[in-house]
Amino acid sequence: MRCRKCKGKAVLDVPRHHTAFCKACLTEFVCAQVERAISEERMFTKADRVLVAVSGGKDSLSLLDILGKLGYQADAFYVDLGIGEYSRQSKAKVERYTSARGISLHVHELKEDEGAGINDLADLVHRPTCSVCGTLKRYHFNRTAVEKGYSVLATGHNLDDEAARLLGNVLHWQTEYLEKQGPTLPDSVEGFAKKVKPLYRLAEREIAAYAVVNKIDYIVEECPNAQGAKMLLYKDILNRLESESPGTKQAFYWGFLTRQKTDEQARPSMAEHDRAVLRPCVTCGQPTTSEICSYCKLMARAQKNGPTPVGS
Ligand SMILES: [Zn+2]
Ligand SMILES: [Zn+2]
Repeated sequence: MRCRKCKGKAVLDVPRHHTAFCKACLTEFVCAQVERAISEERMFTKADRVLVAVSGGKDSLSLLDILGKLGYQADAFYVDLGIGEYSRQSKAKVERYTSARGISLHVHELKEDEGAGINDLADLVHRPTCSVCGTLKRYHFNRTAVEKGYSVLATGHNLDDEAARLLGNVLHWQTEYLEKQGPTLPDSVEGFAKKVKPLYRLAEREIAAYAVVNKIDYIVEECPNAQGAKMLLYKDILNRLESESPGTKQAFYWGFLTRQKTDEQARPSMAEHDRAVLRPCVTCGQPTTSEICSYCKLMARAQKNGPTPVGS
């Protein structure tokens, strides 16, 4: 297999673009796709300070790497969930990557600030671990970005993640989630950072190849709490469709984004809607749609059900 651009030895075929790349051309392709995502979706500019939420996995560390290569001001934020060996290893990978490149790293420790790791917290509130984890991460991602003066929060969600999520939302007609499933969510209200997903044009295997080629040392294991068997099933189904007819995944997700943009012109923008319904949480001051935000509700329940000292 030869690189379609330079005829060197190819390391990855990309059937959805009828092409194959060598190491150097793969890196160039990946960076160009991210640059295109950033400009087409008006995510941020070189003047913005961007906070990248990193887990130690290939997607988030590659995103940090690509933004650095492209010359953006990107720092890292890591939430230590306190899941034994998995958290220790992923945190070590993040620390090694950022310190070697002189990137600022902010860390939030669940065990220190919430008084317990994610598994104990989920037990206390009798809710599935992944859902509690989602609430906590969303809360701290936003709060840290706003408090530390970052205008944008970036996550490492890729095309596979977004297409699988879209499939799940469509199968259950979760229209309120569909409305909010774009690669750019505006900072519509004071107290909310703009949220972006610069990897949405890239498939998981393309990012994995980028990470290997660029010698990024990431944690290969998935979170032991597994991000929901349903999402893995949707990804598997989409991968089977993709191998039969390359381009299906991007046609599905990108096609949705195009239709969403047309719809937006016909109805009031999400920003206007959010401005009307959001207000500061009476407990912590973060923006929310109800009197008390979902994070504070969760922590109040954890405190009621156990002797957990609740932090900030
Ligand atoms: Zn090449
Ligand atoms: Zn709150």
